Amino acid sequence: MTPETLTKSFTSQTFDHYVMETYGRFPIAIERGKGCRLWDTEGKDYLDLVAGIATCTLGHGHPTLIKAVTEQIAKLHHVSNLYYIPEQGELAQWLVEHSCADRAFFCNSGAEANEAAIKLARKYAHTVLNISNPVILTAKASFHGRTLATITATGQPKYQKHFDPLVPGFAYVPYNDLEAIESAIAQWNQDEPRVAAILVEPLQGEGGVCPGNLEYFLRLRKICDQAGILLIFDEVQVGVGRSGKYWGYENLGVEPDIFTSAKGLAGGIPIGAMLCREFCDVFTPGDHASTFGGNPFVCSAALAVLNTLEQEDILSNVIARGEQIRKHLRAIASEFPEVFTEVRGWGLINGLQINPEIDLNAIEIVKSAMKEGLLIAPAGGKVLRFVPPLIISDAEVEEGMEKLKSAIASQGINN
Ligand SMILES: *Cc1c(COP(=O)(O)O)cnc(C)c1O
Repeated sequence: MTPETLTKSFTSQTFDHYVMETYGRFPIAIERGKGCRLWDTEGKDYLDLVAGIATCTLGHGHPTLIKAVTEQIAKLHHVSNLYYIPEQGELAQWLVEHSCADRAFFCNSGAEANEAAIKLARKYAHTVLNISNPVILTAKASFHGRTLATITATGQPKYQKHFDPLVPGFAYVPYNDLEAIESAIAQWNQDEPRVAAILVEPLQGEGGVCPGNLEYFLRLRKICDQAGILLIFDEVQVGVGRSGKYWGYENLGVEPDIFTSAKGLAGGIPIGAMLCREFCDVFTPGDHASTFGGNPFVCSAALAVLNTLEQEDILSNVIARGEQIRKHLRAIASEFPEVFTEVRGWGLINGLQINPEIDLNAIEIVKSAMKEGLLIAPAGGKVLRFVPPLIISDAEVEEGMEKLKSAIASQGINN
């Protein structure tokens, strides 16, 4: 990489000298943001349809979030879970009152929330189901995080390569495939009952913005009810209003026994949460913990985000802006049918599928868009992902779609 100037004193080369190169980074550094707008260290501005990867729910520099965290840090920011944290209780109450769950556990990331869900499901298997060697079924093309257990849960070999031995007790089925799930359960339970839970995303985010199929999810719920096993939803990317409803599962008409949340929950302040129904809350003191989990600072941020979503009816905006984006994406897809083959999504999580047969990767359009002053993210190699802040305006969507068209035109794509 050529040494790009990031700040007066820092080039990307010095950065890479000190920071492990675990990411393929774009050679810009963002310095400040307001709403859906970001400015890099060179002063160039961007319209942000990435939102810190589906995380900055209220965009950048939102006054309510600023007020909540500045007041909280001045009062108290961290004390540990040795003591009661009223803000954590208040956040858990909000989540329980606005979901199918009865109880919450707080940690710091999506992977950690899924780890907590996996531990809870395993303890439930051992202590309630009397399964001594439990298996959790997950979906192919899923994404559940980067810890050892969650890369194992993730049904994509590219995330697992060179990190074996992996964690035992996971098996994979194709997503949205009714027959595959039934035969996998029959196969794993052949000699003795082993399947303890099914862990899936209501909409696969990293796997290419693939919404769950209604009929499939209804069937999953029935299978779990009949076998007495747990249905776990990973809501880390699709939850917290992004789908146009508070939780992705509300789009599918089924409720999980356990679900996880993280990305958008505190609007960009690190948080994770695992929520469950009362009947499967088998954790007792000492079973699980997190030093930072649910501290006053992060909980005040999450409460500010959730109260704003509710009080300002942000979900209506998510639905309207989502329809607006999909309308544009469908127009683009019908203009270039050889290049773009499908538009998928709910609310403000949308994907534009690039024809897998052609020699064009999402990253190339992402780079052209950046030159046009538009930030979008790939999801896998062949999908463009649009996950803007939930407060994005009508005019900003129009601007973003114009910039996207220019980026596509600059690729020399012909219809
Ligand atoms: C991002 C993501 C995770 C991992 O979250 P981290 O906070 O990066 O650990 C897990 N599941 C889904 C569906 C995600 O999108």
